[in-house]
Amino acid sequence: MSAITLRALTKVYPGGVRALDALDLDVADGEFFALLGPSGCGKTTLLRTVAGLETATGGTIRLGDADVTRLPPGRRDVGMVFQDYALFPHMTVLDNIAYPLRIKKEGRARRHGAAAEAAEYLSLAGLEQRRPGELSGGQQQRVALARALVAHPRIFLLDEPLSNLDARLRLEARTFLKRLQRELGVTTVFVTHDQAEALALADRIAVMEAGRIRQLGTPVEVFRRPANLFVASFIGSTPMNLLPGRVCGGSVAVAGAVLPVPAEERGSVEDGESVVCGVRPEYLDFSDVPADGAFGGRVSVVEHLGASSLVTLDVGDDRVSVVVGEDREPRPGDEGWAVPRPGRVLLYRDG
Ligand code: ADP
Ligand code: MG
Repeated sequence: MSAITLRALTKVYPGGVRALDALDLDVADGEFFALLGPSGCGKTTLLRTVAGLETATGGTIRLGDADVTRLPPGRRDVGMVFQDYALFPHMTVLDNIAYPLRIKKEGRARRHGAAAEAAEYLSLAGLEQRRPGELSGGQQQRVALARALVAHPRIFLLDEPLSNLDARLRLEARTFLKRLQRELGVTTVFVTHDQAEALALADRIAVMEAGRIRQLGTPVEVFRRPANLFVASFIGSTPMNLLPGRVCGGSVAVAGAVLPVPAEERGSVEDGESVVCGVRPEYLDFSDVPADGAFGGRVSVVEHLGASSLVTLDVGDDRVSVVVGEDREPRPGDEGWAVPRPGRVLLYRDG
């Protein structure tokens, strides 16, 4: 049985915006699940609808074996962390953390005992009497996590919990969150618009667009084999090369190169069809001598990424980017060839 089962879940806001469009999703027990997608695709709406803060317009929500579609938030047994943390500014850290227990009408001693324990667990000991305004961003985030955890919810919903932290703190908090989820084993749905965060943290990822899921898979699956051009252009720290090509015999003519049609596409493309070839810059090797099946051109831009660089080759009217290791230093104006690794070229139907 899944921890979360959504069937045909639909949310149409009063103004007519269809934020969730008949969405189906199963999240396994104990899974760390990421919802990834551009701003406005419906991620927050999905979390708020599962939490009961928005009412579904259609479809069903089951948590474990219980249909909670019509239950109020307090009876769904979920803990949520909001993007802006939504801490109460006038309350102490301890009272903020204890708040869900107050809603559940637990006695003061139990509330404070459980909140102190959660504070300790999230390294907030000593800060219990401060107010949110007297905390750093990272500390505020941990208070929000402690508040979501204090009632030991079955499901943990996190809406872009790292987006208000600066770059460095964000990496630390990411590792911390992953460890926390592993230790607690609590089913977690984590929303982000940052593909690197989703790839780094999640057991599985759903990539959303306009209220629908466009691909669902492990980080490796969505990185290596994006199911469509939307996912292909959304996933990856360096944008995937997407090059127009044409099928001819068992081959594809693309950017001056002739490549074999990938085995898994052989039945699905027709001779003469226009296609888009996708190949990640990480899956191309740079060569300064001509090579078979390589994209040959002239280096136009070199961007330093740290231990590697991103080199752009002008190949006829196309541009091909290649990640090049620090052992080579191509310069603008040099001739170069980008050699695709076997099995790493993907084909997409045009449009
Ligand atoms: P995301 O979290 O992925 O950025 P949201 O779930 O916040 O997306 O929004 C999805 C769509 O629903 C957007 O078009 C947004 O403008 C719209 N929307 C969100 N909240 C409301 C609301 N309370 N009333 C009307 N439209 C809304
Ligand atoms: Mg949002």
